Amino acid sequence: MKTIDQHYIDGRFVASHGSEVIDLVSPTDRSVIGRVTLGDEEDARAAVRAARRAFKTYSISSLEDRADYLQRLHDAIMARAPEHIAIRTLEYGGVARHNAFSIQGSAKVFLNMRKTLEEMPFRKRVGAAEVLLKPVGVAALITPWNSAIFMVCNKLAPALAAGCTVVVKPSESSALQIRLLVECIDAAGLPPGVVNVVNGRGDVVGDELTRHPDVAKVSFTGSTTVGKAVMRNAAETVKRVTLELGGKSAHIVLDDADADAAAAFALSAAFMNNGQACIAGTRLLVPEHRLAEMKAALLKASSQWKVGDPADDSSALGPLANARQFDRVQGYIRRGIEEGATLLLGGEGHPPGLEAGYFARPTIFVDVRNDMTIAREEIFGPVLSVIAYRTEDEAVEIANDSIYGLQGWISTGDPVRGKAIAERIEAGAVMVNRIFDLFDEAGVPAGGFKQSGIGREFGVYGLSEYLGTRAVFA
Ligand code: NDP
Repeated sequence: MKTIDQHYIDGRFVASHGSEVIDLVSPTDRSVIGRVTLGDEEDARAAVRAARRAFKTYSISSLEDRADYLQRLHDAIMARAPEHIAIRTLEYGGVARHNAFSIQGSAKVFLNMRKTLEEMPFRKRVGAAEVLLKPVGVAALITPWNSAIFMVCNKLAPALAAGCTVVVKPSESSALQIRLLVECIDAAGLPPGVVNVVNGRGDVVGDELTRHPDVAKVSFTGSTTVGKAVMRNAAETVKRVTLELGGKSAHIVLDDADADAAAAFALSAAFMNNGQACIAGTRLLVPEHRLAEMKAALLKASSQWKVGDPADDSSALGPLANARQFDRVQGYIRRGIEEGATLLLGGEGHPPGLEAGYFARPTIFVDVRNDMTIAREEIFGPVLSVIAYRTEDEAVEIANDSIYGLQGWISTGDPVRGKAIAERIEAGAVMVNRIFDLFDEAGVPAGGFKQSGIGREFGVYGLSEYLGTRAVFA
């Protein structure tokens, strides 16, 4: 069992001022695997002071130096990749097929940003002025538990490339994963104070960071409810905000799609990362006349989604991250049944033999209407809702009838037709017949419309979020 009682401030591991201690619980068997001491407002303020001091010199560092730091961060993470994967399995319940992708992706964002740095026009003549891109200041990066390392890296890379210094407030339930990441950051040898990491509760450390007058920018990933609170706090001192929030993404199966391919794709889009992904395709829109065929195909494809010990390479789905997540998912499954949806697969409770952990049954509902709770709210577990549609226009209407607009998914036999539909989906990204390749596409932006968020991550779009323009007339 590991004890984490330090934060990383000003280039050193320092004792916590806050004294609350919480247990880290294995989602696989509910045993206590660690203890973490939570920081308080004073820890947050100390981290901001360090970041503020470091900003003076880091903000004017050369692009070559920043590119070098990004490379070193990539290398430091990859040097300990097997440890990252083992801890992700232990603390989060991540399965092999997603862990490697997640950790390599986390390291890759630094290399991608290094490339983006070379493409960014930091100086540009516009009429009589020279327009310079300048780092906005100290950035607070607040991240969730569902892809703990990736979420931090994905914010760290553009912030550091821009010349910002940062205070990271990760989810306290990811303390073991984050500690290893911080050791990698430390090994990368950035100047003291450029990266600071404080463990602590969102409503304590997170709240302090989002109000602190010396924080110029907040980048937040998490629930829409907390995202709104972050934005309200940030408004007091007119901070810039980037919010990457929830989703309820539709996957449209067009009437020309191959049923088996569409079903396999649909389950990958819905159940990735143990069903705990903001971009998950959780509403499956199926042509009414092909419902029976798709139901059979979904049941067939579900045999590939074995639930089990995440340390076992044959498991495709591990446990949910914690007791709260388990209860939340169970509540939604109950609600779906109460509101009249029909279970095609799964249901409440644990899969047989997996009662010791927070394992949920992969669940597929049919006879779902788009006004049911399970079609409107983000469940964040392996629960797919199948909704029938009659015409292509109706499918687009249902897909867009959501407070969210993060991602869209399309299965079709005709990619040209798929692309035309994709352009009508109100979402930050739409995947036609392909699962996910953001890590490989360095310049492609990601983010949400509507209540899925504000701002974009990745590429020049993500880098711009940490930069402000300064026009100089001389
Ligand atoms: P939250 O939005 O509560 O947490 C995300 C991060 O914000 C955590 O670091 C959290 O800290 C912090 N936080 C919480 N309250 C505040 C606050 N007042 N000010 C500043 N920071 C704060 O997500 P949850 O972990 O509670 O998950 C709940 C639901 O949110 C999920 O079931 C899912 O629907 C959605 N979600 C969406 C994600 C996405 O990728 N879009 C990611 C995670 C969750 P703390 O350590 O205290 O939790």
